[in-house]
Amino acid sequence: MAVSEDCIVKKFPEAIERGYIVPFFQPVFRTFTEKICSIEALARWMDPDMGMLSPADFIPALEKNGLIYELDMSILRQTCAFYRKLIERETPIHSFSVNLSRGDFKEKDMYERITGILKEYDVPTSAIKLEITEGVMLQEVESFRRLFSLFNEAGFTIWIDDFGSGYSSLNMLQNYNFDFMKFDMLFLKDFSAKNRQVLAPMIFMAQNLGIHTLAEGVETEEQMKFLRSIGCETLQGYYYSKPLSEDAFIKYLDDHPGLYETYEEKIYWEKIGRFNFQRTNPLDTFSAEIDFDDEDSDKGASLALVEFSGEEGRFVYVSEVFKDRLKELGYDHLEELEDGFKKKKSNRYLTLYRLVTNTIASGAVQELDYIRNGVYYKVRARCLAKTSKKAMLAMQLRTFDAETEVRTAGEMIKYSNALFATYDLVTAIYPERDASDRLYSTLGIQTYASLTDLRKSIKNFCENEVAEEDREKYMAFMNLDTLDERCAPGYVQGFFRMQATGNYKSIRLSRIANDTEKSYLYTIQAVPDKSL
Ligand code: C2E
Ligand code: MG
Ligand code: MG
Repeated sequence: MAVSEDCIVKKFPEAIERGYIVPFFQPVFRTFTEKICSIEALARWMDPDMGMLSPADFIPALEKNGLIYELDMSILRQTCAFYRKLIERETPIHSFSVNLSRGDFKEKDMYERITGILKEYDVPTSAIKLEITEGVMLQEVESFRRLFSLFNEAGFTIWIDDFGSGYSSLNMLQNYNFDFMKFDMLFLKDFSAKNRQVLAPMIFMAQNLGIHTLAEGVETEEQMKFLRSIGCETLQGYYYSKPLSEDAFIKYLDDHPGLYETYEEKIYWEKIGRFNFQRTNPLDTFSAEIDFDDEDSDKGASLALVEFSGEEGRFVYVSEVFKDRLKELGYDHLEELEDGFKKKKSNRYLTLYRLVTNTIASGAVQELDYIRNGVYYKVRARCLAKTSKKAMLAMQLRTFDAETEVRTAGEMIKYSNALFATYDLVTAIYPERDASDRLYSTLGIQTYASLTDLRKSIKNFCENEVAEEDREKYMAFMNLDTLDERCAPGYVQGFFRMQATGNYKSIRLSRIANDTEKSYLYTIQAVPDKSL
């Protein structure tokens, strides 16, 4: 409904007095947890004659006629009253934001009035965020500078609203320490590849300046996912909720218990939010030594955020490169890892758990080397934030395969010595080509592991080395036609007595992952107990 400026101006005093103009509340959600982290108060004029008016219907007229200050103070007062009410109902929300307009900065007593209203309702200054648009700081330069430091000293934080819609005063960002930057939904209206490209570096820039990020006007799941992927910390929009009347908002909270974050969680998540996901080597924000000098860096960072509470770990964020590397190690599903961690049955998980506890306790970067599926890997971790109940770790994963000559000679020798001490013989076998490739042997057997004639080698080994009573069993074990099927769990193992000594050897065929043709590692290992 189009309402004339005259009409708005004429009806305004009565509307304020009778309480026709009220704040509606729209929640802001933390991207990772999808919990409410703040609430914006937005004015609505519920007129008995004119019906419901939106800000677009009355704000320009109020601004033009010097009335906006009264509106803003009224919305602030009602927001403070709502804050108090929520505390009393034991659904405390520690962060609200209100919109200020350019006209407010022309008023002499603005600071006193705002602090006075908060005192009246016993609301801490940290609970009320002041949203201003870029225009305010550009047009009201002097009074803005004065008020900014007054507000800051009193413990208020200031948010920039509609960033990018107007003058884009980038250097102003460096002169003031803003708490949050709200990105205008115009960026999202046309959700094209081009607009996406604009948004990502802006989020990046804000984080570099130490400013938290919020995207408003989020309407679809696709937008939410994209914003999460580029590291935008908080989201607001119809996808989550429209602005709601006070009663509707209370009902909304009651219908979704536990949906808002506690103060402790807010501190925790804001620390994590400072962490920059778009960095190629994110952990190097903490220390130059952590740089992996990653050859995959053009594909993005190898990064995961894992939250540990008590004995359990949960993946909160996993980059594509990190996922690819987990696959190399044979982990196709994150749940599998989370589950293994919970049970901690194997040495691998116990070792990993030690890394986690050391990382949390030390606050320093910790690392770990391990081998799985024949792939060496290195995990680096750093604790980003913790509460009494949980801790968030940033982790990087690096894998080293045969083609990457990044390991030092020293490391190689260390691993090789351990291998020599464990196995008597290690041979790669290629059934399809009837070939084998001996890696090393301490058995002094020369003839059975030639580069060709795999089947013949097996037969020779059986006849010359395996004790007579175990030969049939050995040939069945080495049956290459059924090997693939039998190796489904990853390997097959058998125990066979040797002809020369009568002692048992443990023989294993393990599938070699990631080879272009089917291949297995054939290993012989001594068994300490003669009789088994
Ligand atoms: P704003 O502060 O940028 O508020 C966001 C606007 O986007 C709100 O419009 C909100 O209802 C709307 N919005 C939220 N999520 C979505 C979404 O997913 N899609 C779309 N299309 N829109 C969404 P609203 O309430 O009409 O307010 C418009 C503007 O009026 C506000 O923009 C703010 O600049 C101003 N305003 C509202 N209340 C006040 C107030 O109390 N004082 C002052 N000075 N300005 C106010
Ligand atoms: Mg706003
Ligand atoms: Mg806005």
